[in-house]
Amino acid sequence: MAEFTMELNDEQKEVRDWLHGFAADVIRPAAAEWDEREETPWPVIQEAAKVGIYSLDFYAQQYFDPTGLGIPMAMEELFWGDAGIALSIVGTGLAAVGVLANGTEEQIGTWIPQMYGDANDVKVAAFCSSEPDAGSDVASMRTRAVYDEAKDEWVLNGTKTWATNGGIANVHVVVAVVDPELGSKGHASFIVPPNTPGLSQGQKFKKHGIRASHTAEVVLEDVRVPGSCLLGGKEKLDERLARARERAKAGGERVKNAAMATFEASRPAVGAMAVGTARAAYEVALDYAKTREQFGRPIIDNQGVAFQLADMRTSIDAARLLVWRASWMAVNGKQFTAAEGSMSKLFASETAKKVTAQAVQILGGNGYTREYPVERMHRDAAIYTIFEGTSEIQRLVIARTLSGMSIR
Ligand SMILES: Cc1cc2nc3c(=O)[nH]c(=O)nc-3n(C[C@H](O)[C@H](O)[C@H](O)COP(=O)(O)OP(=O)(O)OC[C@H]3O[C@@H](n4cnc5c(N)ncnc54)[C@H](O)[C@@H]3O)c2cc1C
Repeated sequence: MAEFTMELNDEQKEVRDWLHGFAADVIRPAAAEWDEREETPWPVIQEAAKVGIYSLDFYAQQYFDPTGLGIPMAMEELFWGDAGIALSIVGTGLAAVGVLANGTEEQIGTWIPQMYGDANDVKVAAFCSSEPDAGSDVASMRTRAVYDEAKDEWVLNGTKTWATNGGIANVHVVVAVVDPELGSKGHASFIVPPNTPGLSQGQKFKKHGIRASHTAEVVLEDVRVPGSCLLGGKEKLDERLARARERAKAGGERVKNAAMATFEASRPAVGAMAVGTARAAYEVALDYAKTREQFGRPIIDNQGVAFQLADMRTSIDAARLLVWRASWMAVNGKQFTAAEGSMSKLFASETAKKVTAQAVQILGGNGYTREYPVERMHRDAAIYTIFEGTSEIQRLVIARTLSGMSIR
């Protein structure tokens, strides 16, 4: 087990500087354009693929970094560049983590490369769990997967919503109900391979922020996938369902479902994205406060402004520490006895919302215009308290973990 450290090693610093260079030179200059266009920034994803940032190898290297700091460091730098574009670059990772967490070695080897494509022909992937009537309440999911034993195929029907890269993905990972009696314990994850008949994109959402990231409904109508597309395989699913039925009979113990396993692994990473956006806005505000003069002196000369910047930086550093701790715990298999993963996501996302609002205020009228990036960062930051579990749901998870009670 790696010791917890608050300092990046030399190799990590090199990677961080390389990512920062890409974020500053390629992502940040393209941010306003793709925010306005509200489209997936394919050329930027392709640039990222060419230099090796958009690749399984890169993410695997960071994901398995024993210090746990690889992924948070990478997310912070990319999202410092721009949240919408960065989500277009890392969104595939959510689907990839779904396969890494639940798939067999063969499934990992077959599907993850097809999620990314290559630098000449980049592809993206989507993780589809949320539904119109199943957002925070994952257990009320209705998308159904029925096994056709004669053909060894699964048949999927339902409507997914809010899917990042939904409908434009080469590979979709879809969470569906296999045993409705078991609630969230009766869910399983499926790969829907490229060009599978019956899968289509529904509404594409026009959003408040992260507008360079594609978000859409995914409609599944008699989508047939081979038995081999069930993540983890049929034998493992049957064993898991049998255990869940036993526990249900005994009136018992909660078990994790497939979607929750994916969310748990990715929450500190979302916290790191929020840290990146917050840091970006704070830096713009600090520079502005030092140069903007009113009443014959820079506005930072007023405690009212300087103290805000002091608070902003303090919260950002505190958020990063929570994120790094949770990420180190996840990588080293430490038990989250106080829901430290949820804590990191909760604090970092609330920090991003607050800090970006403060940055708008410090820039005054300029902060409210699209001439300055803090307006976009403020819109972008609002997503962090919503996706991958809202702030209220994080508080619920933390409170339940601390109390051992099923607080509602
Ligand atoms: C841009 C974007 C990208 C997304 N990407 C994906 C993706 O790739 N894949 C995917 O599967 N999903 C994705 N999501 C979905 C996201 O995870 C959900 O929006 C989120 O889980 C909240 O669900 P909901 O929107 O249905 O809100 P609801 O669950 O309806 O919640 C509405 C409000 O009620 C509150 N609330 C609900 N229950 C409780 C409770 N028990 N106690 C206190 N408050 C409560 C919530 O906190 C929230 O404030 C994305 C969403 C967005 C907006």
